[in-house]
Amino acid sequence: MSSTASLSQLFWSRGDDSPVTHVERIPPRSGSPVAWPSWAAPAFVDACRDRGIISPWAHQATAANLAVEGTNVVLATGTASGKSLGYQMPVLSRLLTDPRATALYIAPAKALAADQLRAVAGFGLPGVRPATYDGDTSREEREWIREHSRFVLTNPDMLHHGILPGHERWAVFLRRLAYVVIDECHTYRGVFGSHVAHVLRRLRRAATRYGGRPTFVLASATSGDPADAASRLLGLPVTAVTEDASPRGGVTFALWEPPLLPAYPSASAVPAPRSALDPASALDSSSAVDPSAALDPDVAAADPDVELPQVRRSALRETADLLTNAIVAGTRTLAFVRSRRGAEVVAAVTRRQLDEAVPGLGERVAAYRAGYLKEDRRAIERALLSGELLGLASTNALELGVDLVGLDAVLICGYPGTRASLWQQAGRAGRAGGEALAVLIARDDPLDTYLVHHPSALFGRPVEVTVLDPANPYVLGPQLCCAASEAPITEADLELFGGDVARAAVDGLTRSGALRRRPSGWYWTHTGRPDVDLRGTGGAPVSVVEESTGRLLGTVDPESSHAMLHTGAVYLHQGVTYVVDDLDLEDAIALVHQEEPDWSTHARDVTDLSVVSVRSYVDAGPVGLFLGEVDVTNQVVSYQRRRIGSGEIIDTRPLDLPLRELRTVAVWFTVSPRALEAAGVEPPDFPGALHAAEHAAIGLLPLMATCDRWDIGGLSTANHDDTEAPTVFVYDGHPGGAGFAERAYATAAEWLTATREAIAACACESGCPSCVQSPKCGNGNNPLHKPGAVSVLDAVLTALASAKPPT
Ligand SMILES: [Zn+2]
Ligand SMILES: [Zn+2]
Repeated sequence: MSSTASLSQLFWSRGDDSPVTHVERIPPRSGSPVAWPSWAAPAFVDACRDRGIISPWAHQATAANLAVEGTNVVLATGTASGKSLGYQMPVLSRLLTDPRATALYIAPAKALAADQLRAVAGFGLPGVRPATYDGDTSREEREWIREHSRFVLTNPDMLHHGILPGHERWAVFLRRLAYVVIDECHTYRGVFGSHVAHVLRRLRRAATRYGGRPTFVLASATSGDPADAASRLLGLPVTAVTEDASPRGGVTFALWEPPLLPAYPSASAVPAPRSALDPASALDSSSAVDPSAALDPDVAAADPDVELPQVRRSALRETADLLTNAIVAGTRTLAFVRSRRGAEVVAAVTRRQLDEAVPGLGERVAAYRAGYLKEDRRAIERALLSGELLGLASTNALELGVDLVGLDAVLICGYPGTRASLWQQAGRAGRAGGEALAVLIARDDPLDTYLVHHPSALFGRPVEVTVLDPANPYVLGPQLCCAASEAPITEADLELFGGDVARAAVDGLTRSGALRRRPSGWYWTHTGRPDVDLRGTGGAPVSVVEESTGRLLGTVDPESSHAMLHTGAVYLHQGVTYVVDDLDLEDAIALVHQEEPDWSTHARDVTDLSVVSVRSYVDAGPVGLFLGEVDVTNQVVSYQRRRIGSGEIIDTRPLDLPLRELRTVAVWFTVSPRALEAAGVEPPDFPGALHAAEHAAIGLLPLMATCDRWDIGGLSTANHDDTEAPTVFVYDGHPGGAGFAERAYATAAEWLTATREAIAACACESGCPSCVQSPKCGNGNNPLHKPGAVSVLDAVLTALASAKPPT
């Protein structure tokens, strides 16, 4: 398969009932090469030429020239535009011409640093001695690296936990530090981004202490206002280079909505199994494992591909079918799936379908995700590069730049949450400059459904501005403690950490006894270091270990561990099924054994919420709109076992897991019972109407804020103790909030109008996953009242339209 025309045919020669709702054609672009800058080290230029890089593209040279002049620069261009050459050119030239200079490279993920190490080591430049310095680096290696490496590759976590606290040992390296490269800097957003912003300020302070004055070179995916975002991240002015001068092939981008299932009343006509290449309707036969049966309603909040009882064909199933067809046709295809489990399921189903079509072909597809061990990931990457693998179902672990070439098509199973991520993932296809294909397959979800029917919301708009807030008190306070534990904070340092807000924060920390004021500054007076986690994951990842062999299979985030790894849970790894024997939260370890039961497991949880304070509110008569702090408690209390295939509930088993607490920011609205009745909602329907409105509102919030529904939680009730009225709460899933609830409050009319429209426009009868059902409902989507939800939102919107401005 070489031309897009045939690629496209492969996917959607389907006639009137085509699931393709829109096709966007992105034209090819020719490149603008320029001469190597005169300062570029000849050895570096030779090494590039040996690797087939004859000359740089204009944007690479522009960024490199700025960096060499000492200007902090952010190169914000598309995937595959060669951003790495933009920083490698100045950095490696400097290391070659100044034998004492050092450079630090920071990537958000270990895999990316490892990839960069391969690239830099591959140049074979004398005296550079590049090395990764991360959690996997042994003690002996660490010492050698500090003393001898001149190009150290690390991540923000290691900088925060390892390098900065031991800055004395890095004194020489920091004194000679010429460049700091911050790769994929657009990933530093929200709470994590705010933490990283302070880690970089701490790095700047440490370098200054030893006399280093590094220039910062940042690389970013295309993003709205990259100069502003980079300068907020760094705390220094940054110049942006955004004109992409690399050539690229055209991309055909299709939006795909899985068809309604025949059993569903509104599904008048469901298309026949697709494509002439379909190696038999065996692909659609009931003997194939149905991924949506294996995964379902109330599972882990961190598992976004979990699907509800189906109204439409599952997006995972559609993705597996498209991937199967692509591989049968010899098309190298990468499928992005949002959750780990989803990636495993797509790979497993595709493998099975391929083996049915051509025995042995199944071996040419694999799953790939972040929890895998390094060696497993490397092996998979190598196999894909060599062509041994033709297809991969991956989480966005791959999104972060691991250098893959020669992919013909990218399947995106579910909107990845932001347009920036969507373009990043789509940009994986067509690296060699050839024509490529990208398909966004909508999940049964209000936002996905809205987007495949409103392509202008995807194609006509710039990518999101990266949001981060270094002044977030939940970030600033802990970071100032870290800074103080590294070296006392001086008056001069306060400016670096935010000026007035930093002063107020150190005063507060002094009052609370965390810091002590002395004439020379503010001191950390406690033994040990402050315990601060950049990723806000609240602890170490949980290791999944096969008990009989002691083999470490992978890791799971602590937030997801209760729902994914509780005792009795079914856990998938590379398509192999395991059952959890014991989850030891103290030691962060789950012991599992291999077993293939004919049921799946589904965790159930209970959430409670209380209002701590109100920051702002709108008084709209019978309706109130509020922004404030809340305490949320959540507990995974039980799990259901469901028969694979039928979804029949076998039993519900209790679990004894601890309660988890979260103080965060919420937006909520109240409607008086009288106003609800006036809007046509009967009192017995209050809970269902409010619950349905809550689900849809959570589903649509990502349209307003750069988050996804998995960053947000909700709670609705016909009478809440703190508000004494029917109430819908929507809260940030991150301690202290990440700005999502604020954004919802600020755009409430627009947000709730889109929510109302999404529900009203849905063709289903009494609610479906495209409107009011939620895949993460801890209540099994019960009760839900779809028409009532429209009435609730009408009442709220009418009242808000004539309300006074916020108080
Ligand atoms: Zn619906
Ligand atoms: Zn719910």
